[in-house]
Amino acid sequence: MKMNKPVLCNSCKKPVTSRRELVTTKSIFKVYPYHDECYEKDLKGKKSFLLDNYPINGLSGTLSVILSFLLMVFLYPVLDTIQFGVIALLFLITGFYRIYSFVLYEKVLPAK
Ligand SMILES: [Zn+2]
Repeated sequence: MKMNKPVLCNSCKKPVTSRRELVTTKSIFKVYPYHDECYEKDLKGKKSFLLDNYPINGLSGTLSVILSFLLMVFLYPVLDTIQFGVIALLFLITGFYRIYSFVLYEKVLPAK
């Protein structure tokens, strides 16, 4: 059996031990894991152009993927190619980060 690499919090550098305390956020093509406490302390409310700091994991992350998908499907008949392309891209990007976060961090941690 292969040992999983520990998931280290990007803020305090200590391991995150369960999915319940994990919050992941995105940067450019990267996903960073945090303890929920460290996330609250260090990142919440702070916003920058390239790092929007919204959690990717958990309900809100999953919902944004679903929402962008629904947007894409429902708006398809009324959009021109470029507009549709933009929304499709948005869906692909949110979906990409969601899967990235899951595969890299959530999957390796116990649920509680
Ligand atoms: Zn931490």
